[in-house]
Amino acid sequence: MLQIQQIPALNDNYIYLLHDTDSRETAVVDPAVAQPVLDTLKQKDWNLTYILNTHHHADHVGGNLTLKQHTNCQIIGSVNDMQRIPGIDQKVSEGDTLKLGSYTIQVISCTGHTTGHIAFYSPDAHALFCGDTLFAMGCGRLFEGTAEQMQQSLKKFTALPLDTKIYCAHEYTEANAQFALSVEPENKDLLTTIARVKQLRANQQATVPTTLNQELATNPFLRTNSLEIQKVLAMQGASELAIFTELRERKNRF
Ligand code: ZN
Ligand code: FE
Repeated sequence: MLQIQQIPALNDNYIYLLHDTDSRETAVVDPAVAQPVLDTLKQKDWNLTYILNTHHHADHVGGNLTLKQHTNCQIIGSVNDMQRIPGIDQKVSEGDTLKLGSYTIQVISCTGHTTGHIAFYSPDAHALFCGDTLFAMGCGRLFEGTAEQMQQSLKKFTALPLDTKIYCAHEYTEANAQFALSVEPENKDLLTTIARVKQLRANQQATVPTTLNQELATNPFLRTNSLEIQKVLAMQGASELAIFTELRERKNRF
């Protein structure tokens, strides 16, 4: 069995520990900081085998070197980020396959937020660890890539099974929901979701993971074909890319 442990860190980051109960191999995705990871490993009596980094930003790699020092784990990141990921041991790219015990983890290249951004997908666990590419009702900012790259990256995710769980790296859901509502105020799924999100946050509970199904119904960045969104933007019939670009720009100013 693959156990997934979610650790909140910094202001709004999520770090994920993946543990295969048969082989006892353990991976951590995007350790923003080391200490809460070390604490959880100790508490669970797990030994860290791998660090999986989605991209080079400090709030995703900040714990790399301390964790490596304490656990002697292997650090895995994008070949395009080999200069920027501290302590990187194994360089991977699109289509590469990793193993955590008997579980397969596929590497998906998803540029846009950064030029070397990758996601980790477990088909067996129906789980996608997508860093800062896709968020609940939002998507990552375009720091290094283009809107076109980001949209292509998101299309790779929307081709996955509908029940795929989306483990994003930040709790940005409430702010994203407000933007989503501003561009699609009549979306009933969105209204229902926002009510649920507000309640969860009022109780300091996580709104992540989400699912692909849920995002297809509520995430404006996956809904460029929504007639309501097109109308609100006054862009009826415009290309998917033009609408996506406008949504991303409006979100930056929101
Ligand atoms: Zn980032
Ligand atoms: Fe981040």
